[in-house]
Amino acid sequence: MSDLSLEQVDSARFARLVEASRVLNSTSDLNELLDFIIREAAALTGTEAASIMLLDAQTRELRFAAASAQAVEELAGMPVGLDDSVAGTVFRTNEPLIVGDVANEPRWNSQVDQASGFRTDSILGVPMHNVAGETVGVLEALNKPAGDFSQQDVETLSTLADLAGVAVERARLVSELREAYSQLNELDQLKSKFIAVASHELRTPLSIILGYLSFLREKADNPETVAQLDTVLGAAVRLRGLIEDMLNLQYVERGEPQLAAEPIDFCALVRHLIEERRGTMQAKKLHVSLHLPQAPLQIRGDGQAMETVVGNLLNNAIKFTQLGGSIDVVLARHGREAWLEVRDDGIGIPSDKLEQVFTRFYQVEPPLVRSYEGLGLGLAVARDLLEAQGGRIWVRSEKGEGSCFYVAMPLLTAATR
Ligand code: ADP
Repeated sequence: MSDLSLEQVDSARFARLVEASRVLNSTSDLNELLDFIIREAAALTGTEAASIMLLDAQTRELRFAAASAQAVEELAGMPVGLDDSVAGTVFRTNEPLIVGDVANEPRWNSQVDQASGFRTDSILGVPMHNVAGETVGVLEALNKPAGDFSQQDVETLSTLADLAGVAVERARLVSELREAYSQLNELDQLKSKFIAVASHELRTPLSIILGYLSFLREKADNPETVAQLDTVLGAAVRLRGLIEDMLNLQYVERGEPQLAAEPIDFCALVRHLIEERRGTMQAKKLHVSLHLPQAPLQIRGDGQAMETVVGNLLNNAIKFTQLGGSIDVVLARHGREAWLEVRDDGIGIPSDKLEQVFTRFYQVEPPLVRSYEGLGLGLAVARDLLEAQGGRIWVRSEKGEGSCFYVAMPLLTAATR
């Protein structure tokens, strides 16, 4: 990088350079930066125009990135070789170059003027460096109407070129990062959308399969057929567990969930979810009881999210309760809230693990000896979704004594209906 020697630069130019440095540091919009550099280069050297050429890393040629002339687009398509051009010489030698009269300069390429419609008479070219001191491009000031280019012009333009080189490289990096981030974001959204669509689309046919299987199993009286149907039913239930985990995953990936706040008939929702699982419960010979209040319970929340929450609790109750066990589901009004209780007499949860079960991926059983399927996401997602809707979830349980999960949700009161 060139050192700016104060004796060689008058105070007005110095002040302008300091101001330019401030502007160059404050923007990372590449086009804005390039335009600014061009304007400052011409103003600081008292020239008619300026241009910037940056190295194309692939072709190792210089390319116009900006020019005072209008026809930048035509210029942009024109590569400038490193060996046989004025700018190329500046780049290669890494030294400033003054061409007093382009008519007598064999390295001058007149096609540039033809393309831009500008008439070049004289050139001061200086190398641009990045923060590591590598040459990344060339800054040229064109046509000095009053006299020749001075040493002061060389110093000023060199300093601006270095400030500009660093700023341009930073802006390029920022724009590359922005692009990469937006591509990642797009891919991530696509993946989440696919998971959401796939899990929803898989759920409907699977419910039909489960419904018919349970029906057939109920009707079957031959023990061999019952055993076969149980195997198929077991496989279909596992499949549904996987699909529900996909639904949970979708909420985990989204970060802060975007949920609706619509009126929900809580009793109808719970009844429907139990019906959906009736076949599975029968296959496990579970006794299920559902207690609903006389009057309907309207809550305010997101229907799909509430289905996920209640579905996760029912699935756990089924999963962690032994053959022939029982599950009680109670829904009741509690002040200004609706409380849902999902109680089972299954394996229970050790008292020191009662909070941990709401942590993502936490499962009481150690991973290597696990006999229950699942990702360990259901309760964490349930808590996130409930909290985002102004609700709560907690559990009472003891190891070997069954578990009781509670959900509290604000009622849709008369005032807000
Ligand atoms: P997953 O069921 O996929 O493992 P969850 O987040 O739904 O994930 O549950 C986390 C853990 O909490 C379960 O692995 C289990 O150890 C424990 N757990 C959840 N519900 C019950 C229940 N009803 N009875 C016993 N343990 C439970």
